[in-house]
Amino acid sequence: MTDEPTALVEVALPVPLFQTFTYALNPESTVIPVAGSRVVVPFRNRREIGVCLGPAQARVTGPKLKRIIEVPDDEPVLSADMIALCSWISEYYVVPVGLALKAALPASLTGASHPQPTRKTHRIVRLREDLPTLTHREKAFARAPQQRALFELLESLGGTSTLEHLLQRLAFSPSVLKALEKRGLIRVEAEEVDRDPFALRPGEAARTHQPTAPQRDAIRRLTAASPGEVFLLHGITGSGKTLVYIELLKEIVDVRGQTGIVLVPEIALTPQTVDRFRAVFGDRIAVLHSALSDGERYDAWRALKRGEKRIAVGARSAIFAPLSNVGAIIVDEEHEASYKQGETPRYHAREVAIVRARAEGSIVVLGSATPSLESWSNAEAGKYTLLTLPERVGGGRLPKVEIVDLRHRATPLADTSTGPGTGYSAVIRDELDRALSHTLQRGEQSILLLNRRGYSAFVQCNDCGDVVVCPNCSITLTHHRAPERLLCHYCAHQEPLRARCARCGGQTLKQRGLGTQQVERLVSDRFPGARIARMDVDTTSGKWAHAEILDRVGGGAVDILLGTQMIAKGLDFPNVTLVGVVDADVGINLPDFRASERCFQLLSQVAGRAGRGPKGGKVIIQTRVPTHHAVSCAVAHDYSTFVREELEGRIKPAYPPNLRLANIVFSGTSDRAASGLAIRGADWIRELLQTQTGGQVAIVGPAPCPIEKVKTRWRWHVLLKSQNPSELTRVGRYFMKRFPVPAALRVTFDRDPVTLL
Ligand code: ADP
Ligand code: ZN
Repeated sequence: MTDEPTALVEVALPVPLFQTFTYALNPESTVIPVAGSRVVVPFRNRREIGVCLGPAQARVTGPKLKRIIEVPDDEPVLSADMIALCSWISEYYVVPVGLALKAALPASLTGASHPQPTRKTHRIVRLREDLPTLTHREKAFARAPQQRALFELLESLGGTSTLEHLLQRLAFSPSVLKALEKRGLIRVEAEEVDRDPFALRPGEAARTHQPTAPQRDAIRRLTAASPGEVFLLHGITGSGKTLVYIELLKEIVDVRGQTGIVLVPEIALTPQTVDRFRAVFGDRIAVLHSALSDGERYDAWRALKRGEKRIAVGARSAIFAPLSNVGAIIVDEEHEASYKQGETPRYHAREVAIVRARAEGSIVVLGSATPSLESWSNAEAGKYTLLTLPERVGGGRLPKVEIVDLRHRATPLADTSTGPGTGYSAVIRDELDRALSHTLQRGEQSILLLNRRGYSAFVQCNDCGDVVVCPNCSITLTHHRAPERLLCHYCAHQEPLRARCARCGGQTLKQRGLGTQQVERLVSDRFPGARIARMDVDTTSGKWAHAEILDRVGGGAVDILLGTQMIAKGLDFPNVTLVGVVDADVGINLPDFRASERCFQLLSQVAGRAGRGPKGGKVIIQTRVPTHHAVSCAVAHDYSTFVREELEGRIKPAYPPNLRLANIVFSGTSDRAASGLAIRGADWIRELLQTQTGGQVAIVGPAPCPIEKVKTRWRWHVLLKSQNPSELTRVGRYFMKRFPVPAALRVTFDRDPVTLL
């Protein structure tokens, strides 16, 4: 990085091209761009906001060379460290560096149309001139007593006030103000205000717990860590991982004067965790919530960059928090799939955290009760340091888990008809029903998990067996009530319910497979007095909907909390003594190598919500596959057996973490074009592999993706497998840069995919 003026600079643009661009400086501009500065440049007859990477490498001249239009900021928006991090992302995930840099900046700094973010401002009124003597005053305000009153009020307020206060609270008219402004006696100016909607949440009082012995041990080892060290904190549910994070951050921020980053899967789902951090660190925390507007997000970003906030808490993109001197990066619930971005750049925040920490000398804490197989094997291999919290705090024990075997029963679960009053006993079996009753009678709370939203999973013709699917996706439509419709969970296509089968005209259309809406109806019919809250995507569209529901549960205003996987995470309610899993098998048979792992994690996490208080608790799991190891290990709280068996299952055929994987998806609006491209792509790679690598990368496919069509695009894929990560990078980059893709067709490269669907 240099502050020397240079004639030509290299610019990264957020366009899907694997190259950077050379621009000439604008002689009229007063600000000289340096590495990390934003620049507005002409690009293909439009303007783009790019990031200057420093002086141009090559000497380019000639009339074609274009000039920078504008340098919007006085200072670079990205540090050298951050540029290096984005360059790594660009290299490893095989994405243009301009797109990686864009992901690291708040949206308001990268939108092509608004280079200046809109900031929330207060209008401030200031006195400009003194009127020292009484005669001055009498003369100046001879015929304007209102102006005099306002002038003297401002004097008494110390010379400034907000416009709002003067006009609303003190009821001065705007014309009086304008007149004073016109006479040059006052000035109205804009002053920026920082907005932090999380600050409006009532804070939890800072509770000071004495760390337990395992917590103390973990804290001691974390504070004695060497820079760049990565820890896997394996703590069972309720073992008090949050306290460990907080004690570490106290040391990092308060004692060492450094900064910290806390990643959580999704802020909206974890208001309790965020509240605990806020209770300790107060306004030194910036909470990067998804409900923030672009302007609010920018405010938080700026406060972090200036060092006004010392800790960033947020979902995956918070890994780009513009903090300097980062002492610790915490990745809570590190196994969560949401840390992987589903669109370009397809980075995994956990891996980016580790790379950032190594470069900046921070330590990393990956925390989970059910660590990902990747992190677990890294800990076993000695790459990460394993810390364990094996007990629940306060002498609590993990809840007892019971299985209800849904096989060999009269009514199969998936066959509930929609007739009124039917179905409850097929959906909630006796054991779970009795437990719910008792829990209600005792005035305690229950959680019911069903990981499928809507009313019923799909609609099927009784005569020909045809299932109603989305016209845009190869996915069945889900029946939703209130409003009544069929909905696609992939593309949001909706249509009215059908009276007859589109294929055979049959008039008996059966609802199959349960959704949360149906369970809510059945349970409220069964327990009319119970206060039931449903939490899924459909009930949480409002900005603060999650927190509102969870606050009601915490406040004792809910008897039964029912929901999808949203309710499985992070919740810490001591009065929840029963957790029921309505159907553990949702998702267990998906054609995806992580299906079992995800099922085990979900069951273990939701079971961990029970029995967090002195009253204890129990868990009842309804399943048709009680011997499936994802279920049986969750029942036994046996993480290590699960991991051992699951790792063995991924040897043949080999899947991560036994090797490295990249999923290349070819898509287009016709199936033939997509498959044709996939075949050409696979041939292209096979040829490349024969000539270029010593057999270190293997290719599988092409084949249709398990979900063949999404949003009108047909999808085919090939997998690249290798033990050697840098060979995989090399092949991936070579292919993505050179393989020709006709317009209208698309190729995406997903490194370390979390799903192959
Ligand atoms: P985890 O994230 O590991 O599931 P939490 O961090 O949510 O667990 O902690 C579980 C509960 O235990 C919380 O209510 C927390 O306030 C409490 N807790 C944590 N550490 C202690 C301690 N040392 N003494 C008493 N209570 C504690
Ligand atoms: Zn669809």
